[in-house]
Amino acid sequence: MKRSISKLVIFITVLLLIFSCSKRELTEEQRMELAREICQDLLLLDSHIDWPESVLLNPRNISKKNSTGEFDYERAKMGGLNAVLSVLYVNYKYDLKKGRETFDSLYTIVNSYIKDYPEKFAQAITPDEISRNFKKGLLSIPLCLENGSIIGNDINYVSYLKELGITYITLSHNRSNQIGDANADTNRPWKGLSPFGEKVVDEMNRVGILIDISHSSDKTVIQVLKKSKAPIIATHSSCRHFTPGYERNLSDELIKEIAKKEGVVMVAFGSMFLDSTCSKNINYLIHYFDSTGVSYQSEEGMQFIQEFWQNNKIIAKAEHIVDHIDHVVELAGINHVGLGSDFDGVGPTMPEKVSDVSAYPVIVAELLNRGYSKKDIEKILGKTIYGCGGKPLTWQIH
Ligand SMILES: [Zn+2]
Repeated sequence: MKRSISKLVIFITVLLLIFSCSKRELTEEQRMELAREICQDLLLLDSHIDWPESVLLNPRNISKKNSTGEFDYERAKMGGLNAVLSVLYVNYKYDLKKGRETFDSLYTIVNSYIKDYPEKFAQAITPDEISRNFKKGLLSIPLCLENGSIIGNDINYVSYLKELGITYITLSHNRSNQIGDANADTNRPWKGLSPFGEKVVDEMNRVGILIDISHSSDKTVIQVLKKSKAPIIATHSSCRHFTPGYERNLSDELIKEIAKKEGVVMVAFGSMFLDSTCSKNINYLIHYFDSTGVSYQSEEGMQFIQEFWQNNKIIAKAEHIVDHIDHVVELAGINHVGLGSDFDGVGPTMPEKVSDVSAYPVIVAELLNRGYSKKDIEKILGKTIYGCGGKPLTWQIH
């Protein structure tokens, strides 16, 4: 009852704001207020947040408000976030044993929140379950696997992952693996998808796990598009149009092909994805940390970043995120774009005013500024992935 009254209040406020402002421009403050109301009102899904690894490395209770990290329950509520595809990330440097052990630890962390805080968090595998949890006021934390390396050479492991509730698998991370070539790796042994990778695609289609091609090389993406019977998604990639030469982002051609197959491009927020100068500078930093072994979270690492930051641009603006959304919409239409922030996954490189999960209204305010309707915004905030173009995204091939 309480929820339906508060929904009614939000609905009336939104109507009043739209009505009172229909004949004149909204002020920045009014636009922000309307954006906050919209984020509270609509189902908001983010397809890629690395909070489980962040909690593993820096143990804390994310059911409460934290002063570190970019995701927790309280800030998610502030931002209007309702579904977080929670990433079980396996470092490409790990062998099979360590990779599977890490996966198990991350899996345990996510499930502990569902068990310990059932009034706040809930599991979800299908889009219907996400919708049901939303109506109950619960934050869905569906599981996903970033880096299929832990499948090893055991095709049966794919159905095991399905049994555990994995909703999508990012085929690789920054290095080529037994499934296919990665876009951040110069070593590309398969020239796309490997023969075993073809079997993995078939098996993921069969059991109903979405295929995520963020991190895959262009050739891998093209071959997955050809092979997969189900739509594919990019859970945290932006547009190469703005970052020429940065293969981690998608070319116009690939965006169109993904959409043609009824898939979705979920725009990543990290500054390196948004702006070519930031991209070059952050890639320099990544190379520095990789080659020296210094952690960016160490005192030495943070000091290096701060000094570098003073003379080099590494932070983009919130408006850049919307430039990328605009670009996907222009190429593929409103039914094929969503949000895949990569919060807790890219270090201190989020754009200005978008420092954590409380910041979705900042993006929505800019969408309103550019004339997007509430119906369009509903699609961008999640409807594209849980109901592509009005019909359910095919998660399973029967
Ligand atoms: Zn990633």
